[in-house]
Formats: sequence, structure tokens, C-alpha cells
Amino acid sequence: MGWDFETDPEFQEQLDWMDLFVTEEVEPLAFLGIHPSDTKSERRNALVRPLQDKVKQRGLWACHLGPELGGKGYGQVKLGLMNEILGRAGFAPTIFGCQAPDTGNAEIIAHYGTDAQKARYLEPLLDNRIVSGFSMTEPQGGSDPTGFRTRAVLDGDHWLINGEKWFTTNAKWSEFLIVMAMTDPDAEVRHARTSMFIVPADTPGVEIVRNVGVYGAARDGSEGYVRYTDVRVPADHLLGQRGGAFAISQTRLGGGRIHHAMRTVGACRRALDLLCRRAVSRKTRDGVLADKQMVQMAIADSYIELEQFKLFVLKTAWAIDKYKDYRRVRKDIAAIKALMPKVYHDIAARALHIHGSLGVSDEMPFAGQVIGAFVMGIADGPTEVHKETVAKQHLRAYRGVEDPIFPDYSIPNRRAAAMERYADPLEQVADAFEEAA
Ligand SMILES: Cc1cc2nc3c(=O)[nH]c(=O)nc-3n(C[C@H](O)[C@H](O)[C@H](O)COP(=O)(O)OP(=O)(O)OC[C@H]3O[C@@H](n4cnc5c(N)ncnc54)[C@H](O)[C@@H]3O)c2cc1C
Repeated sequence: MGWDFETDPEFQEQLDWMDLFVTEEVEPLAFLGIHPSDTKSERRNALVRPLQDKVKQRGLWACHLGPELGGKGYGQVKLGLMNEILGRAGFAPTIFGCQAPDTGNAEIIAHYGTDAQKARYLEPLLDNRIVSGFSMTEPQGGSDPTGFRTRAVLDGDHWLINGEKWFTTNAKWSEFLIVMAMTDPDAEVRHARTSMFIVPADTPGVEIVRNVGVYGAARDGSEGYVRYTDVRVPADHLLGQRGGAFAISQTRLGGGRIHHAMRTVGACRRALDLLCRRAVSRKTRDGVLADKQMVQMAIADSYIELEQFKLFVLKTAWAIDKYKDYRRVRKDIAAIKALMPKVYHDIAARALHIHGSLGVSDEMPFAGQVIGAFVMGIADGPTEVHKETVAKQHLRAYRGVEDPIFPDYSIPNRRAAAMERYADPLEQVADAFEEAA
């Protein structure tokens, strides 16, 4: 039997260290007017680099990576427990070398990149000396990648890229952008029509039309609306195989989605923690809010939903570690991706509500968390699309019944089948009864 919900004492020590370090040294960074991705800011670097060094000394840097790339190869369950702590603080992933979208970009360059691409882009990226962007979504719609229009045409020994991309996170700070573009519009298989490219951000023709902010964030936001006009990159800037963009993005997104879910467990726990602190301290009538049954219900519901979500995330992490194949765990990755925004929204909304006017104000984090919950339901594909995946994957195990009107599982049919199955012993009991009578 392999069911075990305990953490190794040795690893628990690391988690305890992380817990204290994040609370005391990392959380305060959010209030100093710096951005985790602004690697060109001296102020940011003066504060961030020493903390990154502490994490490296502790052996906790970039733990999502295998040892060949300088990580620990901890596997997803350990990452799940670590990410729950990191999810509490916006700066924490950067301090621990596992910030999106760089993690996913590093993963695909490590997996599909040439030695030259790795030397030029991967090494500084892994060390957070630079940051990068992933340019896939287009303004006319992101949920359906088959409708993307950005084109890349081979022109001598260069690729010529034209198109527009929307919500390229961190574009304005990026050293390079990984761009998805159609190279083979006539390929028979739809998913073989697009390819990935590494585009240095200073290539002529790369233009940030504007930096869009997620509501409530700084005005000059981090989501780039990027236009690519006659952007020329050398032929060797193709990443992976020509026509291989969909396979590459799946490699990238599988890991990314579960890491978001792990961190969301931490964000939910933070919201619940603040909810409880408020409930036990805010006086009302003859006691405090925590004395009221409806407030108790909000706390109980939040705790129950959070624990269910966490266990589902960890079970999925365990399955990824066991099978070492994201495709085999696709249904559950899609399921936690779909569950994450709901759990986060509901807990953050309760925390906001119980804080009253202070809760909706810009002096509390809850409105940002509620928007964050919507972000989790949209980024990396909307909830509906993931639920569709869950249902399709789940239905694979089912075949239609012979008689859909009175199916074999109806009670009369099951009773008849049971009578047939146990006909002999039933007959013997009946005979014995008759003899006795
Ligand atoms: C904070 C943030 C960061 C992001 N970062 C990046 C990034 O770095 N790089 C990048 O390329 N993209 C990024 N994205 C974009 C993201 O991947 C897209 O927003 C997402 O794929 C949805 O595309 P869309 O916004 O165009 O919405 P649409 O595709 O227009 O969908 C809008 C809504 O329509 C509904 N819908 C869509 N399809 C279906 C369906 N099949 N069935 C039922 N309902 C459906 C859903 O309710 C959905 O929310 C980011 C998004 C956010 C919010």
C-alpha cells in the first residue's frame, strides 16, 4: 500500500525554512515599488539578488528543473508543497528561480533547443539574468489556436515574421520572445501548420503597441500587445521542428498549469488565513464575527474546498511523478485547471466580504485576488475548454448500452439479472422451505 500523507522530516525542514524566509524576507518586496521581472532595474536587483543567493545556498534554486540544468529534480509532489508556500507572495517564484513564463520557456528550450540556442538563451534565463516572453495568443482570439494568423516565411537563410500577439506577459522586460507563427498553411494536418521561433526582442520590426495591465495592477502593465512587422530572424532561430509548435506548447503548458494550481493553493490559504484573523478579531454586537454561524459557514466551506483542491493537486502531482508523462495525466491536469479559479474566487470573495468596506478597498489584497481568480480561469486556456477536455477524456472509458430506452442498469433489468445469477441457490432455499412446510 502506497498511501502516505506525511512529509519526510528532512524535506519538512526545508519547507519550514522557506515558510519563514518567504514571510520575513520575500513578502515585504511587494511594497517597495519594484517589479519581479524588471531585471534591468538596479534597485530591484539590489534587493532581489541577495535573496536569490540565499535560496541557492540553501539548495532550493529552480527546483522544478532536473539536475542536468542545475535543479534538484524534486518531482511534482515536493514542488507542490514548495509552491504552496511560494503562492503566498508575488515575488517568491522569482526569488526561487521558478517564475512564469520563464520556467515554461526554459523547459522548451532545454527540450527542443540546439546547443547554440541553449548557450545564448537558456543559461542566462535559468540564472534570472534575463527574462523572456511567450507570444502565442492573438488579438482576434486565444482559445482556438487554429485561428492564429501570424505568418513566418522562409526568405533565403532567414525567417520573415509578420503578425500581432496579445497578452505576451513581460514583453517589455524580455530579452527574447518565443513566437508561434504559421509556416505551413497548406499542411494536411491542422496542428502541423505552425512553428515556434526564438525572436530577440531588439530585432527590428518588434514593436510593443501597448502594455496592458490586468485590472488593479500598475497602469503601465506587464501584458504586451506586440506587433511583428517584417521581423527577420536567422533560420536557426526556429525552435524544434518545423510544424512542431503545438507539440512544443503542450510540453510547456502541462507543467505550467499544475504549477499555477500549486501556487493557487497557497494564495487560497493566505485568503483563508486573513478571513479567520478578521473573524476572530472584528467585534460585532455581543461578540466577534467568528461567533456568527453564517461566518462559521464561510470559514468551514473555505477550509473544505481548499483541502479538497489541495489533495486533488497533490494526487495529480503524484501521478505525474509516477507516469512521467503529462499526456497520461491530461484529464486531471485539465480538471484542476478548471477547479482552480472557482476555489480561488470563492475563498477570496468570502475573505473580501467578511472584511466589509475594508475588503473592497485598495488597502486590502482581496479585489486583486478575485481578479486573479478570473485570470486563472482564462490564462492557459479558459475553463470551458478544460472542462471539455475532462469530459472527453472521461468519456473514453464508456460505450453505449444495447438498449438505451430500458438500459441494463435499470432496476427491473438488474433484478432479473440477479435472479438468473442466483437461480440455483434461490431454488434450493425454496425447496428446503417447501420440505419444512
Ligand atoms: C494574465 C494573463 C496572462 C497571459 N499571458 C499570456 C502569455 O504570456 N502568452 C500568451 O500567448 N498568452 C497569454 N495569455 C492569454 C491567454 O492564453 C488567453 O487569454 C486565453 O487563451 C483566452 O483567449 P482570449 O483571451 O482571446 O479569450 P477568447 O478566446 O475570446 O475566449 C473568451 C471566452 O469565451 C469562452 N470560450 C472560448 N472558447 C470556448 C469554448 N471552446 N467553449 C466554451 N466557451 C469558450 C470562454 O468563456 C472564454 O473565457 C494571458 C492571459 C492572461 C489573462
